[in-house]
Amino acid sequence: MSGGLAIQSDFVTRFAPSPSGLLHKGHAYSALMAFQVAQRAGARFLLRIEDIDTTRCKPEFTIAIYEDLAWLGIAWEKPVRIQSEHFEDYATALGRLKDMGVVYPCFCTRKDIQAEIAKSPSAPHGPDGPIYPGTCRPLSADEQEARIAAGEAHAWRLDLKAALAITGNQLTWQDEHKGLVKATPEELGDVVLARKDTPTSYHLSVVHDDALQGITHIVRGEDLWHATHIHVVLQKLLGYPTPTYSHHRLLTDEHGKRFAKRDKALTLRAIRDSGVGADELIKSLRLDPG
Ligand code: GLU
Repeated sequence: MSGGLAIQSDFVTRFAPSPSGLLHKGHAYSALMAFQVAQRAGARFLLRIEDIDTTRCKPEFTIAIYEDLAWLGIAWEKPVRIQSEHFEDYATALGRLKDMGVVYPCFCTRKDIQAEIAKSPSAPHGPDGPIYPGTCRPLSADEQEARIAAGEAHAWRLDLKAALAITGNQLTWQDEHKGLVKATPEELGDVVLARKDTPTSYHLSVVHDDALQGITHIVRGEDLWHATHIHVVLQKLLGYPTPTYSHHRLLTDEHGKRFAKRDKALTLRAIRDSGVGADELIKSLRLDPG
């Protein structure tokens, strides 16, 4: 993946974990893949803590991330950007999207959405399940305002159709493995950009921060492949550059199952505590040679 890349001083990559649990082998693989790309290209390597979900994320898991990555021999620039310290930045980005008319408030509960989807069995499905059926998209500005003024809980969703009317639907990105990829954001549809309980979402904060931090090369797992289709739309709307992407394979256990945070025995901490050395673990991960 990185083998053919020329050394560039303006090449910046990152690892951006969420501290909602202890890191496991899958994270080690992802972090090492990104670090390896950075080292080979003589690039800057950043660590970003994606803790916008302040109920699930815990400071002790952030500390564990620092410990685990250091154990793996990974070094990153300081200071580390901690997303929960920057909610105003994401609110500003959301404000820009509101001004452009490409987001709308969504008052639906999960139940409302399920009921709406149940009504039309042919409702389109994306990789993450059924696509939001657009219930709140046609609400008039007056109704939106009245319901917000009445204190009704609401998320903010991307109005993908309105967004594509601005960006055009010929968006692409350069992918290290797949070459030039044409974005098909319709697979995810009107994603949430600010949640009811959080003034942002993964999609908005990751796109904002990658641009702010000048990330030129994103190395992350294939599980985020579909998210990239939405991210290029947000980048175009907000005037941010689109980095080069490299979506790596996901590690699986001997049954072909993806590692998850709930697999306690496979956390890096448990592996370390069992006496396995970092070199041994890294060898067992069989990093793609690049
Ligand atoms: N924070 C995301 C996660 O832990 C990864 C974000 C990214 O690499 O774009 O899944």
